[in-house]
Amino acid sequence: MKKSDKIEFVSVVVPVYNEEGCLQELIDRTLAVLDGIGRRFEFILVDDGSRDCSAEIMKAASEKRPDQVISCILNRNYGQHSAIMAGFSLVRGDLVITLDADLQNPPEEIPNLIAAAEEGNDVVGTVRQKRKDTLFRRFASKIVNRVAQKATGVKMNDYGCMLRAYRRHIVEAMLQCNERSTFIPVLGNSFARNTCEIPVKHSERASGESKYSLWKLINLQFNLLTCMTTMPLRILTYFGIFAAFCGYVLSVYIVIRRFCWGDGDSWGQGGVFTLFAVMFIFTGIQMIGIGMIGEYIGRIYNDVRARPRYFIEEICGRKAEK
Ligand code: UDP
Ligand code: MG
Repeated sequence: MKKSDKIEFVSVVVPVYNEEGCLQELIDRTLAVLDGIGRRFEFILVDDGSRDCSAEIMKAASEKRPDQVISCILNRNYGQHSAIMAGFSLVRGDLVITLDADLQNPPEEIPNLIAAAEEGNDVVGTVRQKRKDTLFRRFASKIVNRVAQKATGVKMNDYGCMLRAYRRHIVEAMLQCNERSTFIPVLGNSFARNTCEIPVKHSERASGESKYSLWKLINLQFNLLTCMTTMPLRILTYFGIFAAFCGYVLSVYIVIRRFCWGDGDSWGQGGVFTLFAVMFIFTGIQMIGIGMIGEYIGRIYNDVRARPRYFIEEICGRKAEK
């Protein structure tokens, strides 16, 4: 199928983690939208090891409409991006749309995404208008987007928004990637020829609170960074070269000073604390550097162990044909 062809079958994938408060509304609203698009569709809900009634709500929806609503239950919490990957492994549509379960991304935007994809785009990103998140989250996102733009070379303004559409071949390419720590929007873009971005509405979380604690958020940022570039390691090398060069210049200067002025001046002794200061700075930088290398090595280790990225315990609704 050519990518500019009409989209006949749409798959929607939603990761769900303890979202019982808004899940029913999400299902109702999404199904209402999907019923109106005039195409075949499937709605895949992935339960990422929720400890509340989310799985029961999804299963009930699957029982009601087994042809269209598929519930995929993972055996424990693997994280949002792994859950989406589990959903991707089941999709059958020409276009795959991802969405958050908390209704921050209105499902009513789905037809706009389909229209944008039909214009010949492999990936359709979105930019949240009047984003309803804390100042800290918005500021962090700004930096991340800047870095992501530089690293992927794809100009997108909002990598954090998960309301996105991917053509099927992009999803298949993503499924072939075996790394355990991924950041799906960046991974998707790295396989796309044509991309576009459309503005979408953004709302407050419908119920419950963000599933990302500060630590999970930091981990996600490291995933994002390490999944797209090894640049930090290179910066480290450059910095090492620079530091070594400075050290060399300094030692030449000290030797010359010793020859010209002897040790009559108190410069060498007076500089003890300056030396300490410089040493602490360099030790600090070295530690950051080692930590950075550790982040990569940790991920390499995980990939070498090659444990499954997720484990599907149960699928309700129509089973996806492989
Ligand atoms: N989520 C998940 N597993 C997790 C954390 C989050 O499946 O370990 C889902 C969550 O249910 C929601 C989406 O990922 O559908 C985004 O999470 P959240 O809204 O908490 O993130 P935020 O909007 O604060 O970035
Ligand atoms: Mg949210």
